[in-house]
Amino acid sequence: MKKVAVIGAGPGGYVAAIRLAQLGANVHLFEKDRVGGTCLNRGCIPTKTLFRTAEIMHEMRRSAEFGIKLDGDFSVDYTALCERKDKVVNTLVGGIEQLLRSYPNIYFHIGNAVLADARTVECCGEAFADFDAIVIATGSAPQMTETEGVELDGVITSDELLELKVLPRRLIVVGGGVIGLEFASIYRELGSEVIVLASRILKNADAEISRRLVPMLKKQGIELYNDVRARRISRSGELLKVEAAYKKNGEPFEVEGDYVLIASGRGPVYEGLNLDAIGVEYDEKGVIVDKNFQTNVCGVFAIGDIVRGNPQLAHVASAQGERVAEHIMGHESKIQLEVYPNCVFTLNEVAHAGFTEEELKERGVQYSVSKFNFAANGKALSIGDANGLVKLLADKQGKLLGAHIIGPHANDLIAECSLAIANGMSAEDVVGTIHAHPTLSEAVLEAAAGLLGSAIHVANSRKK
Ligand code: FAD
Repeated sequence: MKKVAVIGAGPGGYVAAIRLAQLGANVHLFEKDRVGGTCLNRGCIPTKTLFRTAEIMHEMRRSAEFGIKLDGDFSVDYTALCERKDKVVNTLVGGIEQLLRSYPNIYFHIGNAVLADARTVECCGEAFADFDAIVIATGSAPQMTETEGVELDGVITSDELLELKVLPRRLIVVGGGVIGLEFASIYRELGSEVIVLASRILKNADAEISRRLVPMLKKQGIELYNDVRARRISRSGELLKVEAAYKKNGEPFEVEGDYVLIASGRGPVYEGLNLDAIGVEYDEKGVIVDKNFQTNVCGVFAIGDIVRGNPQLAHVASAQGERVAEHIMGHESKIQLEVYPNCVFTLNEVAHAGFTEEELKERGVQYSVSKFNFAANGKALSIGDANGLVKLLADKQGKLLGAHIIGPHANDLIAECSLAIANGMSAEDVVGTIHAHPTLSEAVLEAAAGLLGSAIHVANSRKK
């Protein structure tokens, strides 16, 4: 029976451990904190719990539009909201612990794991030896910028923002990536004034979609400065002052707030692992692995956020966890890693899978574009959220290459597109599949039909 160590019980590590156990390995899973990693404890789940309240607040403000009279004022009870967030997190953490306990061949150890050699892990003063393989899944942590003043009280990362006991009155977000924009959108709806200082908005998204997101964020009431750099943070009485400047002409400006969230990226977690002792190759961006997630040291693997160049996504870490488990156990894996959905939980959701238009141009690929606006989708209109579109990219034979959605439930709708792109399906395959009515998924169907010139709910004059 193979004996495998997994270090880190985030969505990469715990999934790898379960899959290894399913395939018959004896698994030792080491976690220094709580199971679930960043995702459950400080990432996906707490933020999406806050997001739900943000959505409800948004809809309550629009209640009259939906024929509902709200007598009197309403506001967020931040303490109760945080309690709900913690309850959801605790329920999920408990669920994962129970799952792990249900496998008699998973041995769970709480404590910092240290690599003693390529086959031995030390934890809490005990050495666990003779592993056939070791999987490092120690994840990532927020990185502070080198901006002057980041050490001041009130300059925080996402970890601290999620622990705040009071709702910020005026939150300055430094960073225009997924994490920064999600917090900006959420806290604006919860009632904070929000200022975003972004060097770029969603740099990995299709440029047209990022552009369309900007007015939506502004309409939400976010004070958004794009194409700028934060230069210095200082205290100005009760408030923090951020001095910034436009990148293109250096024009300076200042903004003030009670908290400054630094959301400018996350870096790999190596501390205490002892990677140098066993000669694993890594740099400040992560551990270097081959296509099977093996490091340069035979039998030592790495998955998830710790891997250099990896998209920092929970579902990617989990898919890599399953894949590495199958590889270690000698199974050929069917899991495809090339195509994965990227989801942004701003009030107007943004999701994409596959190539952007810019990437296709850069690669010299001939492609067609089709767009379908939610404004022509019955379900979008009936739920009162018809802002946005589905944009599909296909090659000249109609094979889908990229999908970009901004608008209602984009993050759920992208699943169909990922499935199609990952499996080499064409617009014809999507169009040849009946989509339920009235659903938002009909917007995907119509965008696919647009690629074939057969969209039904697009005026004839607007068809190419
Ligand atoms: P992690 O989840 O970071 O887990 C690593 C684990 O290893 C941790 O539990 C840590 O305690 C443990 N560990 C580290 N060193 C040791 C050691 N020496 N010994 C023992 N244990 C150790 N992704 C999405 O897909 N969707 C989202 O909506 C989303 N939202 C996010 C929101 C925020 C605010 C943040 C910060 C992240 C978000 N992410 C989201 C990203 C997602 O959380 C990460 O990509 C994911 O958690 C990475 O999984 P992982 O298993 O590689 O690492």
